[in-house]
Amino acid sequence: MAITGKALAVYIIAGVMIFFGILFLMSARAEYTSSPGGRIITGLVLIGVGVFAAVMIRRSEPKQKIEITQKIDLSGSVKPEEMRCQQCGAPLDRNSVAIKEGAVFINCQYCKGTYQITEEPKW
Ligand SMILES: [Zn+2]
Repeated sequence: MAITGKALAVYIIAGVMIFFGILFLMSARAEYTSSPGGRIITGLVLIGVGVFAAVMIRRSEPKQKIEITQKIDLSGSVKPEEMRCQQCGAPLDRNSVAIKEGAVFINCQYCKGTYQITEEPKW
């Protein structure tokens, strides 16, 4: 399953937090540290929050709403510039189109219409 941009950002943040958490744990062992307990707690909290965030975004992934389904790489015959909203006729850009579970979803940014294209697109 493709990773959304939002999920990717969370993964990166979680990774950075875990990374610094490990650094804190490692630095807690350094001799110059006067309060290793605090660093250990800080490190564990960072790792815990990072892992928690990664797990949560992973669990929420399949249940995400249409608005944040993965951006698709429209290939070959599909030209988003030529697509128009079926409801208001406004041109649709790449961000207005999403594919979820094999169906094409349109999120018109002009009329805020959301609908699903079930048949083969004819654009
Ligand atoms: Zn529209």
